[in-house]
Amino acid sequence: MNLNAPAIRQLIDLAEANQDVFIENGKKFWGMPELGYREVKTSTYAADCLESYGLKVKRGLSITGFRADLDTGRPGPTVALMGELDALHIPTHPEAIDGCVHACGHHTHINSLVGAAWLFTHCPNILDGLCGKIAFIGTPAEEGFEFELARQLMAEGKIKAISGKVSLYREGVLDDVDVAFMSHCGGKYGCSQNGGNVKKRVVFHGKSCHASVPSSGNNAMNQLTLAQCAIGLLRERMSSTMRIHGIITEGGQAANVIPDTAAMNYYVRGASVQEMSKAAKMFDDAVRYSAMALGGSADVFNIQGSLPVRKNETLGNVHRSVAKLLVPTMADSDFNWFNRSAGCTDMGDITNIMPAIHGGVPGGKGTAHGIDFTTPDGYVAFVQAAKHAAIMLYALLMDDAAEAKAAMAEFGPKLTHEQYEALVEEFK
Ligand SMILES: [Zn+2]
Ligand SMILES: [Zn+2]
Repeated sequence: MNLNAPAIRQLIDLAEANQDVFIENGKKFWGMPELGYREVKTSTYAADCLESYGLKVKRGLSITGFRADLDTGRPGPTVALMGELDALHIPTHPEAIDGCVHACGHHTHINSLVGAAWLFTHCPNILDGLCGKIAFIGTPAEEGFEFELARQLMAEGKIKAISGKVSLYREGVLDDVDVAFMSHCGGKYGCSQNGGNVKKRVVFHGKSCHASVPSSGNNAMNQLTLAQCAIGLLRERMSSTMRIHGIITEGGQAANVIPDTAAMNYYVRGASVQEMSKAAKMFDDAVRYSAMALGGSADVFNIQGSLPVRKNETLGNVHRSVAKLLVPTMADSDFNWFNRSAGCTDMGDITNIMPAIHGGVPGGKGTAHGIDFTTPDGYVAFVQAAKHAAIMLYALLMDDAAEAKAAMAEFGPKLTHEQYEALVEEFK
């Protein structure tokens, strides 16, 4: 892989000479934060950009997803660049709009996709040295925290999973994709080895009555409180890579009525499928027996989360080489080489299905998912990130797609839909 190829220099020079394109789009995406499966403005703006660059865009995939292909005209693998669309609900963030804000930096992800598409459609003869196909795929709803909305949309047949990438996969959008990647905005270049999670909706059942005569009822909130204590005490038995956390979504309606229903939404995380199963069983026992201890009952509903990331070292090497091209002073030790993280991503599922990586690029500042998160340096967050994505695509498909093919050889056969469904069966 010769990253000093003149075509790569051309991509870099074009980006440098047109920084405003990337920075203006990046600011636009920051200014239209929308939650998962409702990223209508974001998705429309991105798809309109791609169409204005001459690409044909398939819209409305899992509601707000889209895909546009750029074919080199020569046979070879299809490499997908994924761009996430969704924001978070953090009303206390000073730049929140309607309570939403890109406090995970996903505005930079879709900006990199649009930026890479701009570069490939504005750089003369750029496809000459490549083979195969590029697929630009806008992916909805990575955050996946709205359990009830997802269940409703699934029941209506509008989506096929709470997570956008899994929903697109089940829709068949990725069936012809051979290699996929994206880079998450953060502090450093790298590629992560995230853990996985299963989401849990728990409903406690009691009996309502006048709160001045509580003995005639059964307080569902008491069951929930005991369950939360039990979960807290479970931490002694949890490994350092397990996490259990959540919120109360229902705790009664009136202080003078003993609530007959209480509910909570939780995430159970683990570094491997085995650890996820173990933590999930500990969680289920803790909530069920806490409810039972107080004479009530609890229903536990699983909602499919995401699988732990499977490593692909070939793609990691390409990511690192491109990062070093952009930042020549970067030492290998400055690159996060598949660092373990308790964070989860629906890219984890994709890395189990085909050769793929969840990369990282700098640009974020402050606390991820916090009120001080911003992307203050437009050059790093918008220009450099888009360049990195575009050069990744080029590097994977140059030299008869040698790197894409090596990533495929490292992975082995792509998972079939049946194999994937068997893998996630117990977490659904
Ligand atoms: Zn996030
Ligand atoms: Zn994120």
